[in-house]
Amino acid sequence: MSTLVEEVTGKNLDMPRMDVLHSDLVRFDGRYKSECPVCKVGVLCMTRTRKDYRLLREDRCGACGQAFRYVDDSIAGESLPPLSEAR
Ligand SMILES: [Zn+2]
Repeated sequence: MSTLVEEVTGKNLDMPRMDVLHSDLVRFDGRYKSECPVCKVGVLCMTRTRKDYRLLREDRCGACGQAFRYVDDSIAGESLPPLSEAR
């Protein structure tokens, strides 16, 4: 018998990226992580740059693989790169 996590793993890897508001998502364990709004079992952990450890707009669900882009101006009080610079 497979678990729910196994059933969704990687399922949305090839789906188009979705624009979401971080502030609209359900928080998971703190101020940054969110429950995946698509599969509801994975977590969006937020990504930071290696260079200056700033938050990135792009994120991906750790379970289903769905790609997201945050369209907020800031997250948990930290500003995000301008939307025009996001890939
Ligand atoms: Zn997911």
